[in-house]
Amino acid sequence: MRRVNAASRLIRTCLAVAACAVAVGALVCVGEARRGTGRQQNTVSSNTGNLEVLQLRPNFSMIAGAGANIAVQIGDDGVVVVDAGSAVKGEAVVAAIKGITARPIRYVIDTSADPDHVGGNEAIAKAGQTLFMVAPDAFRGASVLSFETVLTRMGAPTGERSPFPAAAWPTELFHQPRKYLYLNGEGIEVLHQPAAHTDGDVVVFFRRSDVIVAGDVLDTTRFPKIDVARGGTIQGEIAALNRLVDTAIPSVPIVSREEGTLVIPGHGRVCDQLDVAEYRDMVTIIRDRIRDLIKAGLTLDQIKATSPTRGYTRRYGSDTAPWSTNDFVEAVYQSLVREKS
Ligand SMILES: [Zn+2]
Repeated sequence: MRRVNAASRLIRTCLAVAACAVAVGALVCVGEARRGTGRQQNTVSSNTGNLEVLQLRPNFSMIAGAGANIAVQIGDDGVVVVDAGSAVKGEAVVAAIKGITARPIRYVIDTSADPDHVGGNEAIAKAGQTLFMVAPDAFRGASVLSFETVLTRMGAPTGERSPFPAAAWPTELFHQPRKYLYLNGEGIEVLHQPAAHTDGDVVVFFRRSDVIVAGDVLDTTRFPKIDVARGGTIQGEIAALNRLVDTAIPSVPIVSREEGTLVIPGHGRVCDQLDVAEYRDMVTIIRDRIRDLIKAGLTLDQIKATSPTRGYTRRYGSDTAPWSTNDFVEAVYQSLVREKS
């Protein structure tokens, strides 16, 4: 039987309950995840409006339903948020964060430039309060941190209009492989994953909470979106998934405790290391199949006709846009062909 950690199992339970109770409005689902130490840890999931708030650790929550999954770390320094959801949900996300804590929001960290990850930047940053001394007339909201290419992607080529208002753009950029912060009593590593889903992806590792926020490098609802036009590659995607597997620690040697590192995907349910390893293996197997078919001289259409995603299509595939199974196969193909040339 497949092992899942207690928190992710609880999410599914709560989602099932929420589905039944949606007409009732606000819902609170309280569960207890028994740990092997005999200690019981309460995990609380609340559903207000269309957003679900799930407490994963005493100081760490996840908000689902606003576009991308949103991570919320809380402590004496204030609140650090990873990903902001879509623009239309911005105010609802701010309300959800304020429902968890009255502490000021200090940082938003963007894992990529996708609209469902950065759209809420403006609302969340405005609702926050900077950690730094600023001039009286300067913006006093939360900082928005990203890898530098996220700003490139959110801006626009000269003469064109940006799809995002300037108030939603990142205010703090980095270009090195690792950016770190030490806030709320723990190290926070923001790790650039070159050329994975796009050229601006980061995963964010909260070292003490033992939570990794993976962004769209990991998407349990579908095949990973390799955005070749924005610098994504299949090799970088697999490298990023390997990095997640290497960083996370499963519940060993006492498997029954169902503890271990929690990995929050860009979309879908919370994972443990084994879940990420299975996803990595799936992507690697499909990459290998397509690479072999390219070597054998098949065209893209011929490769599509062999169903290189077989065995996984029902679980992760889609016949429709955005990101159909054909889109995924095509992206892997293009990425491999470009690499060869
Ligand atoms: Zn996404």
